[in-house]
Amino acid sequence: MSNLDEALRDIYHEVLGRNAGETEFHQAVREVLDTLGPVVAKHPQYTDAAVLRRLCEPERQIIFRVPWVDDEGQVQINRGFRVEFNSALGPYKGGLRFHPSVNLGIVKFLGFEQIFKNALTGLPIGGGKGGSDFDPKGRSDGEVMRFCQSFMTELYRHIGEYTDVPAGDIGVGGREIGYLFGQYKRITNRYESGVLTGKGINWGGSQVRTEATGYGVAFFVDEILKTTGDSFDGKQVVVSGSGNVAIFAIEKVHQLGGTVVACSDSSGYVVDSKGIDVDLLKEIKSVRRGRIQDYAEERGSDVRFIAGQSIWDVPCDIALPCATQNELDRDHALALVKNGCRIVAEGANMPTTPDAVKVFVEAGVSFAPGKAANAGGVATSALEMQQNASRDSWSFEHTEQRLNDIMRNIHDRCLETADEYGTPGNYVAGANISAFTHVADAVLALGVI
Ligand code: GLU
Repeated sequence: MSNLDEALRDIYHEVLGRNAGETEFHQAVREVLDTLGPVVAKHPQYTDAAVLRRLCEPERQIIFRVPWVDDEGQVQINRGFRVEFNSALGPYKGGLRFHPSVNLGIVKFLGFEQIFKNALTGLPIGGGKGGSDFDPKGRSDGEVMRFCQSFMTELYRHIGEYTDVPAGDIGVGGREIGYLFGQYKRITNRYESGVLTGKGINWGGSQVRTEATGYGVAFFVDEILKTTGDSFDGKQVVVSGSGNVAIFAIEKVHQLGGTVVACSDSSGYVVDSKGIDVDLLKEIKSVRRGRIQDYAEERGSDVRFIAGQSIWDVPCDIALPCATQNELDRDHALALVKNGCRIVAEGANMPTTPDAVKVFVEAGVSFAPGKAANAGGVATSALEMQQNASRDSWSFEHTEQRLNDIMRNIHDRCLETADEYGTPGNYVAGANISAFTHVADAVLALGVI
């Protein structure tokens, strides 16, 4: 950070001191602070009221034991988290992640990002995140159900449609939300639809929620392309991951005229120059919960599976990291730039390391951070909450149109804000500043609480 941003440096050091070892959280805070110099210079009231320092300290952090019994009759113990980060704009809102890498630092980085992402949607939702180090991989349906029931047996007392509204993230999809909602309903004896989002369509869920994060990323990229009068037509796209976000990003890129030539999982990647067959990918990854190698074997001889290598070596015009945090580093960024990549949009949360972002910005690549580009998921969750509150359900077309409008608004606001603060075309600065001022004004209005 430059000398000009001394006040911000102090805040960063306070965060380092208070949250030792939580490297991903430090990184997420740093990425925001790095862009806020011009804002605090222009608006001293934010510093006077310690708004940023308050935003960096979660309102509440909950850690709990999750005991459950596996199929062999063994007692298993996991750790559960819910970090209720900021509720200035609305109830805490954010997903639950079930993955062995989950710890407090990961949940805090995700919760911190969520405050800003949710503000960008323009909808009345605060920021929070949760999860567990439980690994659903290889677990039976019964084991997943018992885990979810035990997790909710503690979590239920902290959440509610006006308090905190969890949803899915990595390792938590429709199946898990069903088990979690069932247990919440049983314990509370309330059919409180708005307490969780990502529910099934026939029991309170919203059309397009499943598709929303991936579709939203593609809509956002479409807006970037339109700024230069361009479109997806004829564009080669690489999408990392093959989970919910990746699958629906691929689907929408194809509908918009682009071709996704590669996708991946933690074992390696596949290259399919004719374009990824998204129905086959869905069948293998979402229904069978299989490996990406199966895709190559079933799709035919033209498709290559490359084990353990970087997907970012595959030449493309547009790269969409949709797997997980810090999956795209400086060397990957250099390879993408060398091969002619012009647009990068984050479908995952913080998949690009700060060094890699720097490479993209210096090379003039349009770089859309996750808080803006992947906000379509949580935005559609807020639309699900609206439908639950009015006991209504909207059509697919109407909901998708709302999502598309929200993504266009986020895109435009990022560019307008970047212009206003003297960094034209910089989506990172635009997203951070626009989100920060929106939350900060609400924090100021509510007093020191
Ligand atoms: N986990 C998603 C995200 O990272 C969605 C959260 C939600 O719908 O509440 O934004």
